[in-house]
Amino acid sequence: MFRHIQTLRRTRFALTALMTLGACLPVMQAAHKPPKSPKSPRLYIFDCGTIHTKDGDAYSLKKEEMASTEMAIPCILVAHPKGTLMWDNGDIPDRAFPAGGGPAAAGVVTQDKPLLPQLAAVGYEPADITYLSMSHYHGDHVANANSFAGSTWLVRKVERDRMFSDVPIPRSDPANYNLLKNSKTVIIDKDEWDVFGDGKVIIKSTPGHTPGHTVLYLNLAKTGPVVLSGDLYHYPEERTLGRLPVAEFNKEQTAASRAELEVFLKKTGAQLWIEHDMLGNAKLKKAPAFYE
Ligand SMILES: [Zn+2]
Repeated sequence: MFRHIQTLRRTRFALTALMTLGACLPVMQAAHKPPKSPKSPRLYIFDCGTIHTKDGDAYSLKKEEMASTEMAIPCILVAHPKGTLMWDNGDIPDRAFPAGGGPAAAGVVTQDKPLLPQLAAVGYEPADITYLSMSHYHGDHVANANSFAGSTWLVRKVERDRMFSDVPIPRSDPANYNLLKNSKTVIIDKDEWDVFGDGKVIIKSTPGHTPGHTVLYLNLAKTGPVVLSGDLYHYPEERTLGRLPVAEFNKEQTAASRAELEVFLKKTGAQLWIEHDMLGNAKLKKAPAFYE
């Protein structure tokens, strides 16, 4: 009997402990703290899928000229001592993934894991993101923009105007970025916008693919200077063979932006990382690893 009472007491204690823990859980979740600011900028590259393109026709490239016709889709986070910047953020919005995770497919795009769990795995939630800026408004760069509507949006006026004009954008779904309309917004009015004021994270104007297309320059302490291309180029062969995509917003502008970027790369000594470059992307470290 004594033993029986002891067991009962233990069970009751265990139950009370479990219930107390359960009551604490929401509090523990609410107490999320972002990771400590790094001492120098860090670049995280997340896997946001692959575009299974079958040829290079839209980019004036023949299949036999290309190392790969497929395109990588990286999602990009920069953590700086003074804040964070979310850059391009995927093609398939997290809400389109099956409950409990991936994979997901949309058109010719496949993706293994949604973005926010990948961000969470390196310690960040959307509320921790200071700035949102995207190379441009096409669908494969803005899928999760609405998740960062609470951040400050850095955008060129012509790009924002086009996103909220009545004429539909052929390669983008406004339902993925419509909340940005009411976001705290800073209109970028300089060709080189210094995000944190120390020259280490610069959004550079490169119009043509879209009216307000931009690339991202990073000066990393160990890696050195790097430019993330947005869609100024899709394939490395566009650069080596001098080809332009067929359906640019303004082809002449793209050509001029490319020429200007070559001067910038020489001046800064920066490497150019073409975001969609399938083989180039495959060689890059992915989060939770980072470049610094
Ligand atoms: Zn793209």
